[in-house]
Amino acid sequence: MANILIVGAGIAGLSAGIYARKSGFEVTIYESHTIPGGNCTSWQRKGYLFEGGLHWLTGSGADKPLNRVWREVGALTEETRVETGDPFTVCDWRAGGRLQVCLYRDVAKLETHLCAVSPEDTPRIRELCRDIIRFIAFSMPVMDIFFLKTVVKAPSLVTLLRMLPAVLRIIPLSALSVTDYAAKFKHPAIRLLLTSVINPSYDTLSLVATLGCFAAGDGGYIEGGSLVLAANMAKCFEALGGHIRYGKKVEKVLIRAGKATGLVIGGETIPADACIVCTDTLAAVDTLFDPPIREGWARRMRVKTFRPGALIMCSFISIGVEADLSSLPESITFPLEHPFEHAGRIITGLAYKLYFGSAGYAPKGCSAITLIIAGDSYGYWKREREQGRYDERKRELFEQILAALEKQLPAIKGKVAVWDVATPLTYERYCGTYHGSWMTITPAGTKRVFYPCKPKRIGNLYFAGQRMMPPGGTPAAVITGRTAAQYLCRDFGVVFG
Ligand SMILES: Cc1cc2nc3c(=O)[nH]c(=O)nc-3n(C[C@H](O)[C@H](O)[C@H](O)COP(=O)(O)OP(=O)(O)OC[C@H]3O[C@@H](n4cnc5c(N)ncnc54)[C@H](O)[C@@H]3O)c2cc1C
Repeated sequence: MANILIVGAGIAGLSAGIYARKSGFEVTIYESHTIPGGNCTSWQRKGYLFEGGLHWLTGSGADKPLNRVWREVGALTEETRVETGDPFTVCDWRAGGRLQVCLYRDVAKLETHLCAVSPEDTPRIRELCRDIIRFIAFSMPVMDIFFLKTVVKAPSLVTLLRMLPAVLRIIPLSALSVTDYAAKFKHPAIRLLLTSVINPSYDTLSLVATLGCFAAGDGGYIEGGSLVLAANMAKCFEALGGHIRYGKKVEKVLIRAGKATGLVIGGETIPADACIVCTDTLAAVDTLFDPPIREGWARRMRVKTFRPGALIMCSFISIGVEADLSSLPESITFPLEHPFEHAGRIITGLAYKLYFGSAGYAPKGCSAITLIIAGDSYGYWKREREQGRYDERKRELFEQILAALEKQLPAIKGKVAVWDVATPLTYERYCGTYHGSWMTITPAGTKRVFYPCKPKRIGNLYFAGQRMMPPGGTPAAVITGRTAAQYLCRDFGVVFG
């Protein structure tokens, strides 16, 4: 059977590898890091485990089409426990008396609660909840490519028809950014809550689809998080007879006579019948090919992602504290009494996640805290590193955040056991993504773009990864991995297994 080489053992690479192996191909994945998962990862520091790549998993809900895919690739098994805590997040508002505004998954509860918090927002709250209900049946499309011979067919048209009420709302909701949508609400705590769920530069469709996903009982957090998800998939791939070569950075994909013929690693050529590139496509089209890929779709991807604010990246702060915070909600957002500047942006609120010792994320009686400061800070961190101030600036950011957190959580005062700041440079170094970015924003008023997993003019070459379809993240990675394997099967006349 044909010999397939895959670049990258992130979620997309593992998915492509599993489906290609199930279809009977010989498959080897080359991964530059020492573990699988790519951006879907967590890290250990002094007994604390910091969840770094998964806050919720779309498709964790049993009746979603994507759930079948997660099960087929071994990410979810019979033993996987999925947590769907309600409320999903809480806004802890303290100006003018303490108020906790909760983002419940239960839509009826959410409507009653928000209307009680802000009666004058009642019409807008009702409209939001109606939209959430419309999006409960909405799910990410899992389709088969045309003219594919397959053992099991993807969900039929009926699934698509169930989405009709949501489909009719797509255009109006796409026209407005989350920031502009939230601004229509009079109560500042509701505004903060709505802008804390996803990056507020996304369009409102993305927000409502996410809230619909939560309301459907989907979007849970799997026990063990990123590490377990990636390890389960790597285990599934290896159990099928696939090989992963860790610590192998691919330098180039060889193209000869219009076909991919192998990979170059450490100056050595490894021949292949076909290659699937599952590293960040945006980086790959320029760095892994000589000359760079200039097809229309690749040009479009560069144009769409190089515009200001399109790339999602972050500074990621993790803090281990010798304090048991398990009586608190797991996800909290709050406004800052004293906003501060970071990388040219004024930070006016923070959102943090709590992970507890009882769940294995910290020593007994202790807690792990993680926070994301979103925004394009790549240039800032790069400059600071070049000027020898990288560590100093990391400490400064940590101290600003700690000062704000200590006011919110007095129990952590003097209890910090470990802290760490990962920057876009960290993500770039470990995952090879463009400027350390791990998703792309679809801004309001722009069309969602799906990129082809198979180039037009180069044979035996396929692409998969978060960058290839909106909204990105692990669902896009797993789906495009499956699609790339389908093209492979069709081209080689093989039944997709
Ligand atoms: C803080 C944070 C929170 C997130 N939260 C969520 C969430 O809640 N839900 C969600 O769905 N998604 C979330 N994501 C996004 C999600 O983790 C990523 O979009 C997804 O994992 C991307 O998978 P991928 O396989 O496309 O790419 P990657 O993860 O980038 O994998 C690419 C792999 O290729 C390897 N590689 C790169 N270059 C080379 C080379 N030259 N040779 C060999 N190997 C190479 C890398 O090491 C990596 O393993 C989050 C990400 C972050 C960082």
